[in-house]
Amino acid sequence: MQVDFEDNLASYALKSSNTLGRHYKEESAQLRTEFQRDRERIIHSTAFRRLEYKTQVFVNHEGDMYRTRLTHTIEVAQIARAAARALKINEDLTEAISLAHDLGHTPFGHAGQDVLNKCMEDFGGFEHNIQSLRIIEKLENKYANFPGLNLCFETREGILKKCGKTRAKKLGYIANRFIEKKQSSLEAQLTNICDEIAYNNHDIQDGIKAKKIFIEQLENVPLFNDAMIKILKKYPKLKGSKLVNEIVRSIINLLVNNLIENSSFNIKNNNIESFEDVRNFSGLIIGFSKEIKKSNIELKKFLYANLYKHPDVEKMTNRANLIIEKLFSYYNEDISLLPKEYFDYNVNKINAGFKERVICDYIAGMTDRFAQQEYSKLSKSI
Ligand code: MG
Repeated sequence: MQVDFEDNLASYALKSSNTLGRHYKEESAQLRTEFQRDRERIIHSTAFRRLEYKTQVFVNHEGDMYRTRLTHTIEVAQIARAAARALKINEDLTEAISLAHDLGHTPFGHAGQDVLNKCMEDFGGFEHNIQSLRIIEKLENKYANFPGLNLCFETREGILKKCGKTRAKKLGYIANRFIEKKQSSLEAQLTNICDEIAYNNHDIQDGIKAKKIFIEQLENVPLFNDAMIKILKKYPKLKGSKLVNEIVRSIINLLVNNLIENSSFNIKNNNIESFEDVRNFSGLIIGFSKEIKKSNIELKKFLYANLYKHPDVEKMTNRANLIIEKLFSYYNEDISLLPKEYFDYNVNKINAGFKERVICDYIAGMTDRFAQQEYSKLSKSI
């Protein structure tokens, strides 16, 4: 029995039946679409479970109340899925891309990525979106018939948000659109913006909770201030975390509604009728209106200057730099420090001259907690 779950999708949605397929041929599942299967494989992956102990902005052990990569990922998937339903595009593909979008993140968030990229400067560099791809294509190791998760082309392609031409050439057909100047699916475009909606807003909430930023400062950010005026009009006595929560809810609502309305307008206005039209369109179709885009940029600038560059967050960055740099040099100087099982599994790669990449993959896969434990263990014993 083949059930068609995608009858209600719009003509411009990417249906499972239009997928370019998987790298290794597989029988199709009768009761699930191909993209549902992808989503489920991602949830069952090791890299997905590790997101629980990886930094979003605040290091995992700083407090149980803050977002981690895992809760961030779930929030992205939730927002993106709701918007996908409203736009009648493929919810399952949107959710699969959302759940996989941060799998390649190192411990300690962006700080970890930057320092690992520096360590890998002469060996091909490091970038978290490309690492997400490496994980789902090569590094997950659990199926009998193939390496990685063997996901559909569209799920894999959707993870690659940006890519320069030189890198795209090295990545092959998965990155062809950057060379051919074609667009990703609406589902991938949507996930990308919902990622931004999620992190901007939860960073406000977590930043205030951690007392790194304050409501008084945010009064200068129009998106925040307009929402606050609206909420206080309705609940004049509201304050503290409830006030912040209502403001954040209201901003997310405004952004998502604007995104849906403006994207629907773009679809109609540009006569987008099929997923090929999406691919061949000269720009992105999913996006905010001009005014909201501007307000959103102001919010991002505020968070950059006041939260991500906050001295306490920078302190964490410096610590992350030290830990990752040291771990990389410890393993590089003595490769036998890697766990035996991991070493044995990668021995051919190491012998073929890819020692640094093997080390990089190992460090990138670490959780914040494990990286710190490993660092203190090795720094004492060396
Ligand atoms: Mg993200």
